Amino acid sequence: MRRIRGAKGQREAIDAGEVSTDHRVSAFRNFQDAEPPRTQFSRQKNFLTMQRVFSTYRYSDEPLTSALLAEIAQTGISHVEIYCTPVHLKYGSPKDIRTLAEWIGEHRLTVHSLHSPTERDLLPGKRESGIPISISDPERVRRLDAVDEVKRTLEIAEQIPFRYLVQHIGGGRENHDPRKIDAAFNSLEHLTIFAKQRGVSIVLENTPGELGSPSNLRHFVTDTRLDLKFCFDIGHAHMEDGVEISFEPMRDHLVMVHAHDNHGEKDEHLLPQSGNIDWDAAMSLLSGEKEDFPVVLELRAQSASAPSLADATAAFEKLEQSLAARRSAANS
Ligand SMILES: [Zn+2]
Repeated sequence: MRRIRGAKGQREAIDAGEVSTDHRVSAFRNFQDAEPPRTQFSRQKNFLTMQRVFSTYRYSDEPLTSALLAEIAQTGISHVEIYCTPVHLKYGSPKDIRTLAEWIGEHRLTVHSLHSPTERDLLPGKRESGIPISISDPERVRRLDAVDEVKRTLEIAEQIPFRYLVQHIGGGRENHDPRKIDAAFNSLEHLTIFAKQRGVSIVLENTPGELGSPSNLRHFVTDTRLDLKFCFDIGHAHMEDGVEISFEPMRDHLVMVHAHDNHGEKDEHLLPQSGNIDWDAAMSLLSGEKEDFPVVLELRAQSASAPSLADATAAFEKLEQSLAARRSAANS
């Protein structure tokens, strides 16, 4: 693969606007009248309403292959979030990461974000069969082990630049415990620096349970003053206090959302409109965010073939239409 600059240099160049992270956009820049590829709907409205990001979580039970990335790219998706779990990606193997970097370039994809591992030693095809990894584990050896695992994923940025690492504060549904908060602080104090050196921001995601609740995350960031951003997970919010109440504590540090549906009890990661979340209300909360705000579709495999990439594309369309409608209602 062609590497002109190191990841840090490349990130600086991206920030300075010298290079685009979107290969398609830079390719089109040579043509004055050509515009970046847009969806039919956004072309009609003549503006982009959100940035579509597809999470490979949908395929996290199987290895991330060149064929899979090609399939994703062929549906018109240009930005991905890669879910780091050993079955899906050997994130600790520099050789595998080099190969992945080549595939990403070949298929002209942009890695928007990575999702930090939540478990280790997963058995193929058996989700949640591994040992939870928690950066807030009060037991020091286990905590340092978790920190090491997160560092392996951050090192990927040295070969494949990405902007955000999505991180859970705990290892599942956990109660609020001052020892866990202390442990999380120790871990993240170190990890935010390690990430920054690689051009990455750590993004905390709200998860079911007290420890990962939006208000607890907000208190954590306020109290520790660590340089952390937020990913608002709409599905997780719906299982707890509801989307609207959960949004408020997170909005100030918000850089992206995770979109998936459920029926309020289990973390089903269904296609939007397949559970009972009010998506128009959710999109109305986002209508105040800047144009091109990243919305990550984080679906789970429900059966071998569902949901398909075509289903995902249709879901993106619907979310965009809803968001555009909320925006134009707000502006009229
Ligand atoms: Zn999520």
